[in-house]
Amino acid sequence: MKYYSTNHKAPLATLKDAVIRGLAPDKGLYMPESIPTLPESFFKDLHKKSLPEIGFTVANGLFGDDVEKTALKKLTEETLNFEIPLVKLSEQVYSLELFHGPTCAFKDVGGRFMARMLAYFTQNNDKDIYVLTATSGDTGSAVASGFYNVPGIKVIILYPKGKVSHIQEQQLTTHGKNITALEIDGTFDDCQKLVKEAFNNEQLRNDFMLTSANSINLARFLPQSFYYYHAVAQLGEDAKDIVFSVPSGNFGNLTGGLFAWTSGLAIKRFIAATNVNDIVPEYLESGEFNPRPSIKTLANAMDVGNPSNFARMLDLFKNDHDKMAAFITGYTLDDEGIKSYLKAIYEKHNYIADPHGAIGYAALEKLLQPNETGIFLETAHPAKFIDTTEEVLGKKIDIPERLELYLKKKKEAVELSADFQSFQDYFYSLK
Ligand SMILES: *Cc1c(COP(=O)(O)O)cnc(C)c1O
Repeated sequence: MKYYSTNHKAPLATLKDAVIRGLAPDKGLYMPESIPTLPESFFKDLHKKSLPEIGFTVANGLFGDDVEKTALKKLTEETLNFEIPLVKLSEQVYSLELFHGPTCAFKDVGGRFMARMLAYFTQNNDKDIYVLTATSGDTGSAVASGFYNVPGIKVIILYPKGKVSHIQEQQLTTHGKNITALEIDGTFDDCQKLVKEAFNNEQLRNDFMLTSANSINLARFLPQSFYYYHAVAQLGEDAKDIVFSVPSGNFGNLTGGLFAWTSGLAIKRFIAATNVNDIVPEYLESGEFNPRPSIKTLANAMDVGNPSNFARMLDLFKNDHDKMAAFITGYTLDDEGIKSYLKAIYEKHNYIADPHGAIGYAALEKLLQPNETGIFLETAHPAKFIDTTEEVLGKKIDIPERLELYLKKKKEAVELSADFQSFQDYFYSLK
């Protein structure tokens, strides 16, 4: 399989090149030249299949020509070594719990898969490869955990000093080994700028092999299609009129779902659920795409003002606004709404959601039609956002043991100012 850039001004790339590069040279996002349709027999027996079985079939369709089968099987199984249960809240509404992985957010799936695929493609390199990741919290921890101890790969995480939660900081700074956290005296935008400057710096690129691990990388977003099949499988044989409500920021998660649908999975429609950073819902409504600086909200992993995977969504719908709007409905919820739906879901269903999942739930409450079955993606464990969830619900939230463990470890971070020279000097001190 070859991969083209959504900007159509870069040469076709192999899977290996696309994964190592991340972004195409024309700054577009890589897309597979075709999305394989899976056989009818696969869908007929879906409800009998386990998550790793489903994952391997889907991965094999996409990557089978480029990754050796036994390696791909191992890589998929290692990625999916935790449960992704579908929890029934009512006759019509289900929660797909994506937070049972090591860092308690859905990004574990993409983070783990990408780490293993990158390791596969660089196994014969004699030089270490450096994975640079700027994070406002959640991405960094999934990447750190996914890449921990992977041979030949060094991870450098840049996070803004004082601007991530205590739990998040512990998840970023306590790994050690091949993971280094840089505590940048600046904002998330400064962190992102340093990473971009590093990629544009020819000397640094010559002296170090660099790559990035955000959701523009196709090895991170494509595996996010696996659990859509698994969710439908768990609904059972007769499930129909299925609507997925996806709490979205950069729209990598929703794009994963669109790939599953394109391959033949019976999904009736999607809801793009956002906080007040509603650039995509606005586009669906009006046809105008107006990126703008992000606004801080209680669902902060979705505080995105210029959703990067929108380019992939447009590409999948061949730039046809009406087609996209017929299949995806936008929904927006502000902070007051997030609080009231966190409460409502608890009172009505005795279910504790996190602020992101609460938006997905709210969208179903508002937009689900009779006879439809709604699944919202619960993208993080409520304990990751314990300040909000405890305050709103007025009760103690249990912290899972794997999160608690991070809290007991010692923070190790390198403090740096936000200017590029210090970042560059830091790099050369590694040689
Ligand atoms: C990253 C994240 C999202 C947004 O996912 P996208 O793929 O960027 O749309 C939603 N919820 C949580 C908890 C996240 O960490």
